[in-house]
Amino acid sequence: MSETIFHKIIRREIPATIECESETLIVIRDINPQAPFHCLIIPKKIIRSIQDIAEDDAELLLEMVQAASSLAKKYAFEKDGYRLVINCEEWGGQTVFQLHMHMLAGAQLSGGFA
Ligand code: 5GP
Repeated sequence: MSETIFHKIIRREIPATIECESETLIVIRDINPQAPFHCLIIPKKIIRSIQDIAEDDAELLLEMVQAASSLAKKYAFEKDGYRLVINCEEWGGQTVFQLHMHMLAGAQLSGGFA
């Protein structure tokens, strides 16, 4: 298990725009946004990818989805909708090897997946 740039952001060693934070999660704005609203919902616990989640991480995954839902309420994306994406390992497009969920919103997104 190794640390990533996201852990440095959690420890405030690297600056980021922090949207919200709890004991278990941090939500930051993506440095290279792919939509008008692009956040990363990141668990603080070191977890490399979705392949590394354990049974006792179930609550954490729920918290990640709940964070997206409450951001959608805060920014009024509920009705128009938004996209949640988790890239897994190289072929899935993961570049930072700490589990995180992208939340993209604020415009009509393309229908493509690849
Ligand atoms: P992945 O490709 O692993 O699914 O997503 C990693 C995301 O992290 C990318 O969208 C990238 O723009 C974002 N990212 C990489 N480094 C930083 C950083 O230092 N700060 C912020 N806020 N986002 C970053």
